[in-house]
Amino acid sequence: MKYEYMHPRDELALTLERIYNYKMTTTSGGNLSIKDDNGDIWITPARVDKGELVPSDIVCVRRDGTIEGRHPPSSEFPFHKAIYEVRSDIRSVVHAHPMALVAFSCAHKVPETKAFPTAWNSNGKVGFAPYGVPGSDDLGTKIATEFQKGYDSVILENHGVCCGGQNLQDAFGRFESLELCAKALIKAAMIGTPQFLSEEQIQMQQKSYYKLEAFEYDTDMMTIKEKELRCELARFVRRGYRQRLLTGATGTFSARIDEHSFLITPYPLDRHTIEPEDLVMIRKNKKQIGKKPSRGLHAHRAIYEANPEVNCIVNALPVNALSFSICNKKVDTYTIPESYVFVGDVNLLPFESAFNDFDVLTKALTLKNPAAVLENNGVMVVGKDILLAFDKLEVLECSAEAIIDSQPIGGHVPMSQETIDELCEAFDL
Ligand SMILES: [Zn+2]
Repeated sequence: MKYEYMHPRDELALTLERIYNYKMTTTSGGNLSIKDDNGDIWITPARVDKGELVPSDIVCVRRDGTIEGRHPPSSEFPFHKAIYEVRSDIRSVVHAHPMALVAFSCAHKVPETKAFPTAWNSNGKVGFAPYGVPGSDDLGTKIATEFQKGYDSVILENHGVCCGGQNLQDAFGRFESLELCAKALIKAAMIGTPQFLSEEQIQMQQKSYYKLEAFEYDTDMMTIKEKELRCELARFVRRGYRQRLLTGATGTFSARIDEHSFLITPYPLDRHTIEPEDLVMIRKNKKQIGKKPSRGLHAHRAIYEANPEVNCIVNALPVNALSFSICNKKVDTYTIPESYVFVGDVNLLPFESAFNDFDVLTKALTLKNPAAVLENNGVMVVGKDILLAFDKLEVLECSAEAIIDSQPIGGHVPMSQETIDELCEAFDL
């Protein structure tokens, strides 16, 4: 079921479950709320196990202050209310204690979201609210003051984070991409020096979307191959979310149907809930009528046109590979045989290559060199089919994580050129 059709009770319970299941809060920390059209605030309850919360646990605080529900509202209700009072455009608030943002909160720092486009586009500049006693009106005032300055995401000193949005999914998307940004920045600091997007690069990616002509689409014309690809691609996108290779708002996946057409993820999209019918068909540079394809479609089309043997493309921002991308560094695949055999040498491509320099992109990404790190934009992987592309993405992310994890224990020792030559011979690479 799509979130926009849900009652606030169901949407809050489901989103909290998602936050808890993906380890973005503890059972005692975190609370979410929605302000509805009547001005009533629906909020998660106080002292209820976040791992077991059900929709009927959600509390409604009416506009006149009357409380409805079987529990008291979250003890942090005062700051939710304070944020809604200063910002009429905010209709939902997500507060939690996810580990990387708590690290920033304890270090008294805010994450620089110009690390990659989604983090900047969804959060912009991040605010910082000084410490206040949890549940106090004083904390409410301190947080609301930051939101009043125009920040949509605020780090709470020695506490956690608070994100607002025009609806719950908007606030959750900010929260999730900010935590990804914080995690990637922490890891990036272990392997190099983080680089940030320039004004020109930000402008370039924001203007990268242009209108495509549409073609009439009739579901009766769907071939068995298209149906099969739609189901498989949707399944792998959801799996990518579960495996933390994609987030709700990051990751573009496409699969070729034939010489003239391919399927691609839509924009915007929640990768957690995608269904086969959400995918967009692109045929001869026209899009399926009534759908909006991902902004990555021009880069994907260029790769399919230049490389007939490529049948699947993924652009993703898994946290470890992302930290290499933020440092503008290649991921070394001379780590273990699996890495080199499946991924080969990884190219480092300029940020611009995914937006206007498709020549560089199409020459760099082939089945022989199926993976590239894009500066400040994650990684791009191609494959002969969906499973192979997904596998290479997983292997690349695992190599990146192993290299980062080896830093505190002395750093990784790459396999020698002799070993690589031996692998090339053994596996006919
Ligand atoms: Zn808290």
